[in-house]
Amino acid sequence: MSEKTYEVRTYGCQMNVHDSERLSGLLEGAGYVRAPEGSDGDADVVVFNTCAVRENADNKLYGNLGRLAPMKTRRPGMQIAVGGCLAQKDRDTIVKKAPWVDVVFGTHNIGKLPVLLERARVQEEAQVEIAESLEAFPSTLPTRRESAYAAWVSISVGCNNTCTFCIVPALRGKEKDRRTGDILAEIEALVAEGVSEITLLGQNVNAYGSDIGDREAFSKLLRACGKIEGLERVRFTSPHPRDFTDDVIAAMAETPNVMPQLHMPLQSGSDTVLKAMRRSYRQERFLGIIEKVRAAMPHAAISTDIIVGFPGETEEDFEQTMHTVREARFAQAFTFQYSKRPGTPAATMEDQIPKEVVQERYMRLVALQEEISWEENKKQVGRTVEVMVAEGEGRKDGATHRLSGRAPDNRLVHFAKPDEDVRPGDVVTVEITYAAPHHLLAEGPAKAVRRTRAGDAWEKRTAQPQQGAGVLLGLPKIGVPEPLPAATGGCSVQ
Ligand code: SF4
Repeated sequence: MSEKTYEVRTYGCQMNVHDSERLSGLLEGAGYVRAPEGSDGDADVVVFNTCAVRENADNKLYGNLGRLAPMKTRRPGMQIAVGGCLAQKDRDTIVKKAPWVDVVFGTHNIGKLPVLLERARVQEEAQVEIAESLEAFPSTLPTRRESAYAAWVSISVGCNNTCTFCIVPALRGKEKDRRTGDILAEIEALVAEGVSEITLLGQNVNAYGSDIGDREAFSKLLRACGKIEGLERVRFTSPHPRDFTDDVIAAMAETPNVMPQLHMPLQSGSDTVLKAMRRSYRQERFLGIIEKVRAAMPHAAISTDIIVGFPGETEEDFEQTMHTVREARFAQAFTFQYSKRPGTPAATMEDQIPKEVVQERYMRLVALQEEISWEENKKQVGRTVEVMVAEGEGRKDGATHRLSGRAPDNRLVHFAKPDEDVRPGDVVTVEITYAAPHHLLAEGPAKAVRRTRAGDAWEKRTAQPQQGAGVLLGLPKIGVPEPLPAATGGCSVQ
């Protein structure tokens, strides 16, 4: 009998992408093999890992489920499972609206998927199981990682904040921190497999420790990462300004493998709007953190998320956001037009801003940020940087005889292909010769090429091709943990 195949379709933030790696690991542990890429519903099990953050997410899910219904009629053994935030929110509504769905599971019990599929098969009826709190810390589950050289490591799940635009606290629950020893053991195991870059992940990553009563736990964790031999790059996402304490800045500056990069959501530059958003910092505090980060790490690239048109935002409030952007000089900003998220307090606030007003402000903000991104990138010309070669980051690389990768500060660099063989995960030293708003070019010959254990790991993995991939996101790219914080969840908003 041929092996059963699976496909995982992922929507939303990095948390979901990482959860999908675990879903894949669980299914492979249960004997399934990944369906070939492009199989488009031909797999024996199709899993939707959903996101509830976007407006109309439910309509899109039911549309997608509807497209699978005729396939299921043709192939009675096929199973469909729906998990993630929308499943946690809609629960048995999903099987009422789409009775051909076999399994609905929530964000707290993803480890149950294989059992629920089996139970649905044996009992011949849909299984809906949603846990109210976390059953096992997700990182204890098997994982099928998408990259050989870079990996995400969850350090906490959930969030204790109550930002009025965000559905995360309702669906992911209170913050739960993972034990430091377990985190470090996972990182050490990853490094032993060849991984050289990790991104610490949490909805509110720098609040790590609040669950275990240690306010400096996050900075201690960064310093502990610095002692792991073979770990070249440490990043984290997404921090909250409220918890961004001086010990974190010192740990970043003093730990050589913690990269000079910070993605910290601003959301708004107006104190009035921040208050309405229930974000506990104010503009002055935000800019103060940036100043300290720059003083400690002059070359740090700082990026952010901003929402335009939050209910009640006046032209004056928006000007405060523009002012903050001018002052902060972000390397990059993920900008969003506010739209209602059902189930969030902001969705029912009065004074929703007309679409055209939001659009016009948004365009002004994007234009300003483009100008700043470009100016900041131009300052990189002439610098020599170590680029970690990435897979699938340069769409035109084939035609331009270039390779692509990320500088330590996470800037995307396209560089001339060196004569020697270079693999994803290897490190190439180049001089930046040209800057565009969203990438840098290094047109001259490489100054040095360093073959790494991460490159070896990539080569080994590529020699045993694995089929398909199931991540359906604009960001991040298939097969590579998104090096820039995807603007899609966790502490981000879309
Ligand atoms: S936006 Fe971030 S900090 Fe605020 S509630 Fe959502 S996850 Fe928590």
